[in-house]
Amino acid sequence: MSKGKLYVISGPSGAGKGTICKKVIEADVNIRLSVSMTTRDPREGEIEAVDYFFVSRDDFEKLLSEGGLLEYNLYVNNYYGTPREQVIKWLHEGHDVILEIDYHGAFQVKEAYPEAVLIFILPPSVDELKARIIGRGSESEETLKKRLEEAMNDLEQADKYDYCVINENVDAAADEVQRIMNIERSKEA
Ligand code: 5GP
Repeated sequence: MSKGKLYVISGPSGAGKGTICKKVIEADVNIRLSVSMTTRDPREGEIEAVDYFFVSRDDFEKLLSEGGLLEYNLYVNNYYGTPREQVIKWLHEGHDVILEIDYHGAFQVKEAYPEAVLIFILPPSVDELKARIIGRGSESEETLKKRLEEAMNDLEQADKYDYCVINENVDAAADEVQRIMNIERSKEA
């Protein structure tokens, strides 16, 4: 059976990676998007098992200790991780799989799966990024400050990725990600 390809999409919070991933998934029925597990509280409108699996710290740590996570990170006082089983199953079934995770997780994945393709989404400018993070308005001042700091750290990792895509316009950025996936597929043909 042909195996699928693993893609990691990262970028600072507010760069628009969620919207881009959604568009890419909608355009190709063969692609699957991994749903991460997190200990942070759901934001308004977020849906269990669609946006994240929202779990307690104890449950997260239990799965981690059992080897059930492909990668994980502690980000602004909360755990985030990729449940291993579903991703491996999809890949064996021949689906391409996207992980929308931060750079700590991306480098863990690249270490374990060197054939994984890492794509970094950049905002059009730092000012625009700050405006998007602040505009979300879902965080306390303290968390917001930490998220802005993390976003600046994230930007410094872009050159370690296989590809960078600037999200000036979300449709164009999603097209660019699809183009990259086509390039990667053609390498295997
Ligand atoms: P947010 O709280 O804004 O949804 O996500 C915060 C950060 O955690 C984002 O940079 C997001 O990409 C990252 N993230 C989400 N899920 C995972 C995951 O499963 N693993 C890792 N390492 N990072 C994740």
